[in-house]
Amino acid sequence: MSYDLICANCSGLVELGRCVVCRDSRERLRADRRLPAAWLLAAGAVLGVLSLLAR
Ligand SMILES: [Zn+2]
Repeated sequence: MSYDLICANCSGLVELGRCVVCRDSRERLRADRRLPAAWLLAAGAVLGVLSLLAR
């Protein structure tokens, strides 16, 4: 995912967060990035519990 997105509202880089639209998109991008990590953590926790139960 690229951070070099141009804002349609202020024509600045979204990453710079010059206007409300920028900041909103930036937050959404960060949330999208966090999600896979959260899933990996959840999967790891499940695997850990399963390996404990399998013993
Ligand atoms: Zn903007």
